Amino acid sequence: MRTINQNYIDGRFVPVQGTDLRPLFNPATEEQIATVHLSNAADVDAAVRAAVAAYAEISTMSNSKRVAMLHRLSDVVSRRSADLAEAMSEEYGAPAPFVEASASRAGQVFLDMAQTVEAYPWQRQIGSALVEMRPVGVAAAVTPWNSNLGFICSKLATAIAAGTSIVIKPSEMSAWQTQVLAEALDEAELPNGVYNIINGTGALAGDALTRHRDIAKITFTGSTATGRAILRAASETMKRVTLELGGKGAQIVLDDADLDAAAAQVLANGFINSGQACIAGTRILVPEHKLTTMQERLVAGLANWPVGPGNDPASRIGPMVSAKQWERVQSYIALGPQEGARILAGGEGRPDGLNSGWFVKPTLFGEVDNSMRIAREEIFGPVLCVLPYRGEDDAISIANDTDYGLQNYVIGTDPERCRRIASQLQSGRVVINGAKHEPHAPFGGFKQSGIGRQYGSFGLEAFLEPRSVLG
Ligand code: NAD
Repeated sequence: MRTINQNYIDGRFVPVQGTDLRPLFNPATEEQIATVHLSNAADVDAAVRAAVAAYAEISTMSNSKRVAMLHRLSDVVSRRSADLAEAMSEEYGAPAPFVEASASRAGQVFLDMAQTVEAYPWQRQIGSALVEMRPVGVAAAVTPWNSNLGFICSKLATAIAAGTSIVIKPSEMSAWQTQVLAEALDEAELPNGVYNIINGTGALAGDALTRHRDIAKITFTGSTATGRAILRAASETMKRVTLELGGKGAQIVLDDADLDAAAAQVLANGFINSGQACIAGTRILVPEHKLTTMQERLVAGLANWPVGPGNDPASRIGPMVSAKQWERVQSYIALGPQEGARILAGGEGRPDGLNSGWFVKPTLFGEVDNSMRIAREEIFGPVLCVLPYRGEDDAISIANDTDYGLQNYVIGTDPERCRRIASQLQSGRVVINGAKHEPHAPFGGFKQSGIGRQYGSFGLEAFLEPRSVLG
């Protein structure tokens, strides 16, 4: 069994000073794969001091040097893509297509950001003012378990692009892949202290980092509840914040959609990362007169979503990340019928033949009303709600009737109609008919799904301060 007992501070691996330990499990087998040493406030302080010392150099470095650093980071991460996918598979039990896509995208985000730096107007004249974009100060990043690798890479890329040093506190549930990533990043030989990575829990290391006086900017991805705590912590010293939080996305299936193709798309959008995704479309809105047919297609479509461990090539849905998350998902599956919903497929307990591992049955709820908790709260598992609507306006109103606003979906055959509906949805992103990710377009939430945007020039500007020089 592995021991993960080092942080990466000031350009080298150093022993964690904190004495608390945490076991790390493979969720597909429930076997312990590592023991993680958890950082305390002294570890956090050492990492912040290193980042502060490195700030003078990175914040005055030329664009071309920072772009070269981004290329080096991309190379080293891409070279270790297979190792990263393997670590993710072991740590999350997630199916191969998901972990392989995540690992291969991780190297690409540095190149996307390099392009943004090269195209960005760093200085512009506005009347008599010269407006210069300056780095915001030392940054802190806190990442969620479910897209830990991708968000460490994109937050690090954005910090380097902007000319800031950064301290990263990854999810404590992702310590093994973080270790593999830190070894890869080290090979890029960036100046010491430009980035620092500390293992630890949110309650201790995360809290100490996001309150630290020398941190000017926090970029956080995780739950809305943690986002609130971080916003409070940030207010003490007016830190700039980017918060990427939870979601409860709707998938509007229009009456002109081909129902077979729509059902396949709906399930794929709902079961991203076994349903453990902020962008999952978990409320499926179907025209009332097509409800029965669509429900039948969805139930039949579940046959294409076998559940099993990630290392079984047949699996498309893996386990929940932890025993706690398994129980949470079970509690929502139990709640649905109590609220008046009907289980169309799935239900409580483990799928047949999977007696160990935190697996749940992919579950579809019918007869759902948007006021039910299963339709309002983020479940974070393969549990989808089907809701009927009467006409476009009703669909838009149900989709928008939520505290969240991260990502919605529209499925239909008329592109103009789809775009007209998309333009009325209150979310930071709308995906029409399975359109592909656009790496330079902003990503982030309306309402309680967050504050600020990531990616491209919008993401870069979240790490910059404009300075107007008059005369
Ligand atoms: P989480 O909020 O429990 O934890 C996220 C991170 O915050 C972890 O690193 C954790 O250690 C840290 N943390 C916890 N309490 C803290 C505190 N008081 N101060 C500082 N740091 C603290 O979320 P999770 O379970 O790891 O991830 C799942 C959540 O993330 C879901 O709600 C999901 O929707 C959201 N998410 C959002 C996006 C997005 O882009 N909007 C992307 C992925 C995940």
